[in-house]
Amino acid sequence: MGAAMNAARPQVTRFAPSPNGRLHLGHALSAIVAHDLARASGGRFLLRIEDIDGPRSRPELADEFRRDLEWLGLEWEEVPAQSTRLASYAAAAEALKARGLFYPCTCTRKEIEEAGAVPGLEGLIYPGICKRRAPDPTRPAAWRLDAERALAEVGPLTWDDALAGPQVLDLAGLGDVVLVRKDLPASYHLAVTLDDAADGVTLVTRGADLFAASHVHRTLQALLGLAVPRWHHHPLLTDGTGEKLAKRRGSPALAERREAGEDGRMLAQQLRLQHLSLGT
Ligand SMILES: [Zn+2]
Repeated sequence: MGAAMNAARPQVTRFAPSPNGRLHLGHALSAIVAHDLARASGGRFLLRIEDIDGPRSRPELADEFRRDLEWLGLEWEEVPAQSTRLASYAAAAEALKARGLFYPCTCTRKEIEEAGAVPGLEGLIYPGICKRRAPDPTRPAAWRLDAERALAEVGPLTWDDALAGPQVLDLAGLGDVVLVRKDLPASYHLAVTLDDAADGVTLVTRGADLFAASHVHRTLQALLGLAVPRWHHHPLLTDGTGEKLAKRRGSPALAERREAGEDGRMLAQQLRLQHLSLGT
């Protein structure tokens, strides 16, 4: 159903890997899904390198990623890497701070655990410690979204997933997420939302493990007046035991398979068939 609806107009999709580790089968599937949905609609498939994870980022991997995608038989347009967009993240963060929608948080993970934080959809739900205290200026601060204020400002919202259908916006399972990290001008949530809007992405494709994050991104789109895409969260590949293939120990990187002489286009076809069998 999703594919048929997407065919109505050309879609812009993207694959946005971080060069802090090699690509595995799960990444290949995400790239193929995004590529094929764009092609099926006569649209565009973009590659964006998400290279702002400071100490873990290995720029040389971006070249390896391009060779991997080529090996899989994909064609793409590359858009600027995240490291060139830091000013746009800082500007958006400053605007949201000025509107009272962010608050600084100096908590360590240990403090959050000791405060009795409960698990949510994306790790522990922050229990609001710093929302109720003045920040200690001598400690490094992250900036969190004040979910309560944000929801009061944007009102009831929905968003649409091509596979799961219409979703009612709900931040309860996420809490006050970090939007500016202690060490970076943005967290994943802020950067990816701004980038997708700047790149004109109309169909955000990614693995179902990031489904909950879309509630945060939809909130940010409303707060910042950004265009709202559709989403397509695809099922994750698993091995026989249900363990995520991308995380399986010993699963060879795409580059290793490529260098060993495996046929990448054949592998891409196998992934397409396996993906179909998962029900999409
Ligand atoms: Zn805090």
